[in-house]
Amino acid sequence: MAQPPDYYAVLGVAASASQDEIKKKYRKLASKHHPDKNPNDPKAADTFKQISEAYQTLGDAEKRKQYDDMRRLGAFGGFGGGARQDRPGAQYGYPPPGATGNIRMEDFGDVGLGGLGDLFSSMFGGRSSARREPQRGNDVEIAGEIDFRTAALGGKIAVDMDLNEECTTCHGSGAAPGARLVTCSECGGRGTISFGQGGFAVQRPCPVCLGRGQVPTERCPTCGGAGELRQRRKIQITVPPGVDTGTKMRLKGKGAKGTKGAPPGDLLITFNVKADRFYKREGLDLIAPVPINIVDATLGKKINVKTLDGTRVAIRIPPGTQSGKRFRVRGQGIEKDGTRGDLIVQVDLRVPEKLTPEQEEAMRKFGETMKP
Ligand SMILES: [Zn+2]
Ligand SMILES: [Zn+2]
Repeated sequence: MAQPPDYYAVLGVAASASQDEIKKKYRKLASKHHPDKNPNDPKAADTFKQISEAYQTLGDAEKRKQYDDMRRLGAFGGFGGGARQDRPGAQYGYPPPGATGNIRMEDFGDVGLGGLGDLFSSMFGGRSSARREPQRGNDVEIAGEIDFRTAALGGKIAVDMDLNEECTTCHGSGAAPGARLVTCSECGGRGTISFGQGGFAVQRPCPVCLGRGQVPTERCPTCGGAGELRQRRKIQITVPPGVDTGTKMRLKGKGAKGTKGAPPGDLLITFNVKADRFYKREGLDLIAPVPINIVDATLGKKINVKTLDGTRVAIRIPPGTQSGKRFRVRGQGIEKDGTRGDLIVQVDLRVPEKLTPEQEEAMRKFGETMKP
């Protein structure tokens, strides 16, 4: 994530600087870096733009306060990974004092001259209805690691999901049991705040009450006032046979819980099949490389090969078999939707690296018989 602009650093003033100091510093810098004074320095224009942008926010007491609030609330912090939840704005919580990192910002890369306007729209872009209504739970997307045999034959796997879900203590209100809700002093209970942007007053959800319009007299001890909690849930998944890397599966109602009785979202799993020691996979066929020595390849031999379920099948390697030759055992591959692949035994010729003197002598004699 791109770092947000530190407007104080841009102007080189302390965060406690007075409006007057900010104004003076801005004038000084603006005059020094003005493009008219530095016609051959492209960097000056850039610096000038940054200074102007910083001053546009810090030079206005009200905008400056919003900016300070954003910083104080940790709105610029990072966001921890985990399961992805699809509803935009799903991670927004009610930040406890001093908390950082629980508000996800899409990107700060292009906070332009609009400054805070863009900033707020990235922040609240997903939460159009500020007041909380019952909302279907999020769809949750996870990657499911699965071993080769379970993927081929089907079975059960356990996966962990990290979810932001409505706090069961306060049911999303963020208030401690018995606490009163009082009108938010930041927005006067409207749930939105407005600030000017290019001559327009833009309405945004209040960053303090997050659009609720009210704040509790005491925050919920379980969630710290966020109204939601990050929880780890372990679930068992029944995997159908024939799953491959990239196979997707949707489990209805296994995603995040809905709020205020709304239905839960779905769980979407994308499987990632681990390699097997012995088998490889080509579609529904199983490839089993079988090492064979030069004598058996030359004279032929009956060999036993294990199928996926552990039973053994006998295969006759005919005399004069070349390395890489494949033998197909019908119907012993992977089964999916009623179709079953084959088991393909692939001969892998191994040439001896070390011979006893007797073997070497025999080999030479054999070699002489091969000369034309
Ligand atoms: Zn709570
Ligand atoms: Zn408010």
